[in-house]
Amino acid sequence: MSRIIGIDLGTTNSCVAIHFDGEAVVVANAEGGRTTPSVVAITETGEELVGALARRQAVTNPEATVLAVKRLIGRRYDSPEARDCASVYAYSIVEAPNGDAWVHVRERDYSPQEISSFILRKLKEAAEEYLGEEVTRAIITVPAHFGDSERQATRDAGRLAGLDVERIINEPTAAALAYGVSEEREGLFAVYDLGGGTFDITLLEVRNGVFEVRATSGDTFLGGEDFDNRIIEILVREFQETHGIDLHEERMAMQRLREAAERAKQELSTTTSTEINLPFIAVTDAGPQHLARRLTRGELEDVCAELIERTLGPCQEVLDFAGLTPADMDEVILVGGMTRMPAVQEAVRGFFGRDASRGVNPDEVVAVGAATQGGVLSGEVADVLLLDVTPLSLGVETAGGVFTKLVPQNTTIPVTVAEIFTTAVDNQPFVEVHVLQGERPMAADNRSLARFQLVDLPPAPRGVPKIKVEFHIDANGIVEVTALDEATGKEQRVRVEAASGLTEQEIGRILEEAAASKEDDEERKARADIQNRLRAMLYSVRKSFADLGDRLEEEQRTDIGTMIDESDRILSDEDDVVVLRETLEGLEGAAYLIADAVYAASAEE
Ligand code: ADP
Ligand code: MG
Repeated sequence: MSRIIGIDLGTTNSCVAIHFDGEAVVVANAEGGRTTPSVVAITETGEELVGALARRQAVTNPEATVLAVKRLIGRRYDSPEARDCASVYAYSIVEAPNGDAWVHVRERDYSPQEISSFILRKLKEAAEEYLGEEVTRAIITVPAHFGDSERQATRDAGRLAGLDVERIINEPTAAALAYGVSEEREGLFAVYDLGGGTFDITLLEVRNGVFEVRATSGDTFLGGEDFDNRIIEILVREFQETHGIDLHEERMAMQRLREAAERAKQELSTTTSTEINLPFIAVTDAGPQHLARRLTRGELEDVCAELIERTLGPCQEVLDFAGLTPADMDEVILVGGMTRMPAVQEAVRGFFGRDASRGVNPDEVVAVGAATQGGVLSGEVADVLLLDVTPLSLGVETAGGVFTKLVPQNTTIPVTVAEIFTTAVDNQPFVEVHVLQGERPMAADNRSLARFQLVDLPPAPRGVPKIKVEFHIDANGIVEVTALDEATGKEQRVRVEAASGLTEQEIGRILEEAAASKEDDEERKARADIQNRLRAMLYSVRKSFADLGDRLEEEQRTDIGTMIDESDRILSDEDDVVVLRETLEGLEGAAYLIADAVYAASAEE
């Protein structure tokens, strides 16, 4: 049987693992990264950049760079999530004909499923490269709080990437699996997940191989990027104080600051002090300015203490909801890259009164768990049974707009539940089945998943017809609803295509397009990347040349002037990566020449 890969499709980073030779291994992507930034950019020429390449140009190309698309997947345009994204990200969010939130980049609208599929495809390719064979089956993880439409949409993203999604499982469940939680090791688990942009805390109860989400909470806008921002603010403020320049205005500078701040933060998880070094961050009358600063772990902890503190509120909330105390936990599991930070581990230890489990990398643990589950499904791993539960209740609307639950929240799936309904008026010719999901008593307050009619009922007094409504939820949490008139045997059925989703036709079209553009090879991506860097470099050399060119020797001035014009031409006419790279190197040389001349001149003065 072919292998089933495990994918953690994260808000900021994604990761792929495979169960291979008796254990789950994380597979590096084409650039060698064990995780892949969940970033997709569309270049001027319509190419897709995915991962680190896309992330590296995000600040300088914000409108065409889609970050954190997971926040939009399966969401409506008028949902709070879409509104939040619209206020935080520079790319534009548009309303699709079916009311979903899509993104508009350059000339085209893209569904979040399609953008996600670019990331999934890259991970799929990494796995194929590793195994030396085609991969078509996957398990993808989602947050415990995802409802049906987000899960369906994630599954569709997999299909668009050429993957049959065998299961959609909860991230905390995957993390617990990676720690070997199974029928033998059961109990109560607190899964603390602090990622790049989101915080989730989930209480899992594992009994007889069944994983039940007892409670889940968090903060959808709290994560590593907030820590990076705190560092950036220190650097920008100090730079302004010394040089009178506001770096916020300089996109190129901000991109470099962002990368440097994140790197410094990560280094401070293992060292107590680090050096931030950004030569040529800005140009003033006094010449090019450098930013150099030592940052200590203590300083980082001081400016971020409040962020860490903010994770503890939701921790208390889930315990209260489940009627439990920290001491009831059998194990605390850390997930998310940010939990590598010692101060975060300290805060978790303080709250739960125990050390968290370690041993699996927190930014890989979810993918490892998904791969383990893949191993179970393909028969490689024995003895672990995995059953999940429904995140929210499912039911139908009944007389008076009341929501009648058929499948309560936290029901173990797969499951089939049926109930008999009848008509409300005499000679009613049809019944409408309105399928909803949620916990509120009135239908209107819950989320509508589907609506369909069972027609041609024979005339009968009210209350006499017997209509059997059956819910079937498969192991992925995908819902199918059937209505059957017991008198005539007439039946009507829907697979809940959730109110949010792509139609089969749309999926077919996107798959065809993807196949047709398979030639989007690495070279074109490399070219786009180098063009970007060249454009940025040309911009800054041209600027310093305009500001400071008069301090250069006559001959140098002519040379650099020619070089700028020539680079400009190459940028717009040339496709050859080698030529582009040489031009970039030449310009870098020019930047140094200008800097040298300016220093020499000011030393003479
Ligand atoms: P998500 O699940 O949100 O997609 P991750 O779990 O990969 O993301 O977490 C990403 C965050 O973790 C980023 O902000 C990254 O800077 C941070 N991170 C990664 N490694 C470290 C480290 N060694 N120390 C501190 N933070 C780290
Ligand atoms: Mg994550």
